[in-house]
Amino acid sequence: MTRQGITTQLVHLDRTSNHIEQGAVHSPTTNSVLYEYKDAQAIIDVFQGKKPGHVYSRSSSPSVSALQEMINKLEDGVGALCFATGMGAISSTLLALLKQGDHLIVSRYLFGNTRSLMGSLESFGIQISYVDVTKLTEVIDAYQPNTRGVYCETIANPVTQVADVQSIGSYCKERDILFILDNTMTPSAIFDAKAMQASLVLSSLTKYISGHGNVLGGAVVDTGNFLWQHYPNIQQQYKNGDPSQWGLTQIKKKGLRDMGATLAPGCAHAISIGMETLALRMQKACDNALKLATFLDSHEKIQDVFYPGLSNHPQHFIAREHFQEGYGAILSINLHESIDVVAFLNSLKLVICATHLGDNRTLALPVAATIYSENTPQEREQMGIADSMIRLSVGIEDIDDLVTDFTQALNNFNLST
Ligand SMILES: *Cc1c(COP(=O)(O)O)cnc(C)c1O
Repeated sequence: MTRQGITTQLVHLDRTSNHIEQGAVHSPTTNSVLYEYKDAQAIIDVFQGKKPGHVYSRSSSPSVSALQEMINKLEDGVGALCFATGMGAISSTLLALLKQGDHLIVSRYLFGNTRSLMGSLESFGIQISYVDVTKLTEVIDAYQPNTRGVYCETIANPVTQVADVQSIGSYCKERDILFILDNTMTPSAIFDAKAMQASLVLSSLTKYISGHGNVLGGAVVDTGNFLWQHYPNIQQQYKNGDPSQWGLTQIKKKGLRDMGATLAPGCAHAISIGMETLALRMQKACDNALKLATFLDSHEKIQDVFYPGLSNHPQHFIAREHFQEGYGAILSINLHESIDVVAFLNSLKLVICATHLGDNRTLALPVAATIYSENTPQEREQMGIADSMIRLSVGIEDIDDLVTDFTQALNNFNLST
């Protein structure tokens, strides 16, 4: 049977799953922490992994399981786990799979908090090589016998570098190492991580997937591309049954259960509602971003525009191959040097000054003085972050209103000569 479109699958999944009662089209929000077993042998079997079931909601609950099914559908994987936040998913996954003496090849262009986490992993004795993931050769050169995998993001923020995901995926497959991909910026509505040979797909559900800025969440999906029989760190007790589940089992036990970044059932419901319109919102946001980037790129008061959909972007050709449905909705700009960043942001009337992304509303943030204020000017320069850089997360408003807002804001400033 041909695979249904993603929106069709998402809006009908709960209704057609076996956990639905009395014609409800949404999975119920079940708040029970504990689960009663009338037969004591049954709880023993569930504990020992011989039978499926819920025992304590830090590890699993019906509402979160229903969302995990949806997330897994989204990536066409062999299983998914949800967490309280994106960082919960990332930290639990890495801590569950890596150990002292391992080596990880990591993108130099990372979400700041993930970069900070990598620093903590280094202090625990995990070796990390930071490379330019737009170039496969840098990944190849960083390989060592103890390399367990490559970690990167599809499109980095704020400078929008596009990783050469396809080449990295093929290389990891050939080397038999994990390819861990943070796909928050380009959810599956516009990007097929499984086809690019990602092993584990990480997402902040807080961003595009839920989309409305009203809930935090994170997820990891196993695409089934990686053969866990070949991974040296799977503990003996998790090598029961189907090998395709070994990785997620260890992440569930050593990550979710032991570290406890559990998603709340009510949050799972909010995320599932947001997800129903993911493809529609993504399409609109990507269309808006391309139009806004094109407008800003031609404006004399804007020095630079960073957006993978523009033909002057350094990785535009990679982006064209990877993202057929749209180039994401993050773009960054450098204002003309005579324009004060704070004054400019204060003159925007519709666009919100806030630190978030993937929202229905268009957001703007002066990145150098906020997210990167803990970095030195030299570090910012290496990352390509100018003092005047503004990151825009383009929302789903009507494009004319966005262009009008930027036009009126820019009209407040004269270029000094
Ligand atoms: C926001 C974000 C995260 C972290 O997600 P939270 O849900 O805020 O914890 C991780 N990776 C990327 C690329 C992000 O944008």
